[in-house]
Amino acid sequence: MSLKVLLVSPPIFDFYYSFHRSEPLGLLYMKEALAHYDWLTVTIFDARYKGTSKVIPTPEVFNYLHHLYVKDTSWFSLFHGFKRFGYSYDTIVTCIKENEYDVVCITSLFSAYHYDVEVLVERIKNETGAIVIVGGWAVWADTNILVNGRADFYIRGDGELTLPILLQEIYSSNGNISHLPKLIDSDNSSVNEFFMHTFPHRETWYTYYGKQIANIICSKGCVYHCDFCSIHSRYRYYQRTIDSIQQELEYLYAHGVKIVNFEDDNFLFNRKFAQQLLSLMKYYHNKGMYFLCMNGITAPNLYAVLDDALDAGFLEFNLSLVSSYEEVVKQHNRPALQEIIKDIAWKSAGKVRVIVYIIAGLPGATVKTCIDDILFLASLPVMIGFSPLYLLPGVRLFESMGVPDDRRLCRGSALYSFGEGFSREDIAALWKLCRFINRLKIADAINDEVRVHYEFYKKACHDHVWHYRDEKGLWHEGFSFSASLPESFHICDINGRTRLIG
Ligand code: SF4
Repeated sequence: MSLKVLLVSPPIFDFYYSFHRSEPLGLLYMKEALAHYDWLTVTIFDARYKGTSKVIPTPEVFNYLHHLYVKDTSWFSLFHGFKRFGYSYDTIVTCIKENEYDVVCITSLFSAYHYDVEVLVERIKNETGAIVIVGGWAVWADTNILVNGRADFYIRGDGELTLPILLQEIYSSNGNISHLPKLIDSDNSSVNEFFMHTFPHRETWYTYYGKQIANIICSKGCVYHCDFCSIHSRYRYYQRTIDSIQQELEYLYAHGVKIVNFEDDNFLFNRKFAQQLLSLMKYYHNKGMYFLCMNGITAPNLYAVLDDALDAGFLEFNLSLVSSYEEVVKQHNRPALQEIIKDIAWKSAGKVRVIVYIIAGLPGATVKTCIDDILFLASLPVMIGFSPLYLLPGVRLFESMGVPDDRRLCRGSALYSFGEGFSREDIAALWKLCRFINRLKIADAINDEVRVHYEFYKKACHDHVWHYRDEKGLWHEGFSFSASLPESFHICDINGRTRLIG
């Protein structure tokens, strides 16, 4: 009898989620690593594959956000309504029962979502006889979850290395697991040879705006040490072989993939490797493939090979400025990237769309520095990406700020905790300013819609109260804030045309 194993990519519960990056790359690697064992049958249950979502009651823990997340049809709208993104737990549990899986492995990729993973674990343990294994970033970041965790095993590290050994143990002991530890660590001291030389084969394909898309990853780790990030403390940086990447691109091309999304944390690092990769990309771009890097491209890496990258078939460049203030980024061990990003923005204008992200609420920054960051990006031919600060357990910076015991509050949408001097309402006001600017950047002309929104924006600047628009088009008074927003500013659209607003 073979061991029946289900690898589960669970649904996400949040105010917002983008399905585009959902392809469960980690599970695909694990399935690949398990493919050659004839005593195993392995299936992936990807709860987010169909892209379905359902509004569900907002958990009480987020009640303090009600005045910020209102139903708003204006250009200033933020989130509204808490949702489940993906299939329900009933569907997953029924699948496990009906197919009599012996082992269920669940990925838990983010500490703020781990609470919901435990709810699923609890249901599987109560309603089926399956052994449950949980792994992923959340386990690596926060082994505290073991204290109350109901799963039989928590895997810390690369699952494709650990899972074959653990499953072998479960199989040979006929499911008697009492002698095994609850926490299983993988050896991350050396490079993961399997990752370097292998790529996962897919059975299902995601689409992005009607085109087949696949995620790939060419390297692990990052050479920088930003203190609000945990990537650098988990892996030392290393890359896959270029041969293996070429084989994966050829495989994806042969299966009709039109867009490849790189999920690296330090994409295009190492100039020689970057040039080899870009020539490969150009080759496939000439055959009709396009590329994204939704996890971001490190700006200096891109800058070093910009001319080649502009011809390589990128649909957009996602860059991270964090802050335009050198003293702010330095405080967080991060290089100042303002000038490089400015240069990339102007050289890419009209060729490749650029989105630049700032982090709002970092310790050391102020409301004023954040407004300056926003106005700096408003003046460039880029769209603005706004990331409210989110907290990661185990990261010294956040531990010193106080990571909440209820890890659900660690997500960006929780707007939970910021550096000194930031109120939650000010962060929401800055976010609305970004949304307004982005809409202005894509507006063809100063028409009535622009004028109406500008009037309400001006009112917000004077009265320090935002208004929202209901479904009938009526405006209502919303939350108040204290930030001093600029009444007039320059906007540059993505093609490089600048105009004064106000
Ligand atoms: S550059 Fe990005 S991935 Fe690297 S340490 Fe900084 S935030 Fe993390």
